Amino acid sequence: MDQKELLKQIKTTDSLYAIQKYIGKVIEIRGFANNPIEEELLLLTEEVGELAKAVRKEKYPVDNKKLKNYDSIESEIADVFIVLTSICNCLKINLYDVIIEKENKNIERIWQKVEKDKNE
Ligand SMILES: [Mg+2]
Repeated sequence: MDQKELLKQIKTTDSLYAIQKYIGKVIEIRGFANNPIEEELLLLTEEVGELAKAVRKEKYPVDNKKLKNYDSIESEIADVFIVLTSICNCLKINLYDVIIEKENKNIERIWQKVEKDKNE
């Protein structure tokens, strides 16, 4: 099955598990399935930087001549998610399971938002 056929099978009601499997298949087709984890982590860092750049474009004035170098926030969010999911696949981690496991811990935690001292 090619990438277009795989993408057509994805539905809005699909689980995170199904999305993770889809990403694993297309990454394999694209020839990146055996990338070393270090390279994937570098790529994730790069994509997070691109997301920061896209957000900065929306919030702060930027050089108009460089606008073509900025992608949309939505596109960069997708890139971050795809690379993060790919890292999970490299490490044989089920993203859904680890999110549920972590949220089970987080909901038991007492969260305190520290207010910044206005005199600082
Ligand atoms: Mg990107």
